[in-house]
Amino acid sequence: LMQLFRPLDLLGWVYRTIRQGLVDMGEMFRLMDTDVEVEDIPGAPALIVREPSVRFENVTFGYDPGRTILKDLSFEVRAGTTTAIVGPSGAGKSTIGRLLFRFYDPLQGRILIDGQDIAKARQASVRAAIGIVPQDSVLFNDTLGYNIAYGAEGADEAAVEEAARGAALTGLVERLPDGFETLVGERGLKLSGGEKQRVAIARTLVKNPPILLLDEATSALDTRTEQEILDTLHRIERGRTTIAIAHRLSTIADADRILVLDQGELAEEGDHASLLARGGLYAEMWTQQASERSERAEAAE
Ligand code: ATP
Repeated sequence: LMQLFRPLDLLGWVYRTIRQGLVDMGEMFRLMDTDVEVEDIPGAPALIVREPSVRFENVTFGYDPGRTILKDLSFEVRAGTTTAIVGPSGAGKSTIGRLLFRFYDPLQGRILIDGQDIAKARQASVRAAIGIVPQDSVLFNDTLGYNIAYGAEGADEAAVEEAARGAALTGLVERLPDGFETLVGERGLKLSGGEKQRVAIARTLVKNPPILLLDEATSALDTRTEQEILDTLHRIERGRTTIAIAHRLSTIADADRILVLDQGELAEEGDHASLLARGGLYAEMWTQQASERSERAEAAE
């Protein structure tokens, strides 16, 4: 019977999500297998974010009964700082992002933004405070301008132009015959991986959230494009609280703080230099990835 209800639940969820206009489409498709939806407590107040700190307090979570993914996890990200979350595949990194965006509530423990328990705040207000730059952004078959403004109701032309500048899209816009009116997506102009990432960044800038959740692309961009995107991201991180979920350590080595997650638990934490000096899991992953990088570089020669 559950099987039967799931598609209906999903449709309802998709409809609500589109109506709320808060979630990036890529994120939405990626979460399609979500069959639980968190409910607001009746009369739940909106989150008020003055100092966008993020705090996980003894958070335990699993998708299925009997399989715990995050175990009694506690950490704090101070307002205005960047924390990276790294760790082996399946460690639970993306799950932390999904809990912060409140796709699920923790089974135990609390998640606080600026001291307020997000499970008790209005869901839409939690999502409005967080901008996600996902791994793979999906573009709508619509104009470039529409794709940038999506998610921020009432964004005017000036806001879209400013966001495009902030995301270093101006060069592309100038090259396009119809500028922001150019049709993009499957049926329009196909954008490159790097350009799509820039649209996602511009979309986030229009929303202007105090908290950023970066979910690093696993599909590697070429080195130069990647460096340019990283520079752009570093620029937009200024003045915001950032949580960066990363697979490649080279992209987060300069984060204020790095949390190393292993099987749902915090194995190590510190900055890049102190984690290397410690000679533990991070140092091991770094050495491993460094040798992969040099092999790739040799192969490219
Ligand atoms: P990766 O680096 O490979 O992206 P990760 O550290 O981000 O991995 P998560 O995506 O958080 O890991 O997944 C942690 C665990 O939770 C994995 O074992 C995964 O199979 C499981 N998991 C993820 N999503 C779901 C879901 N919707 N339902 C059930 N289990 C899930």
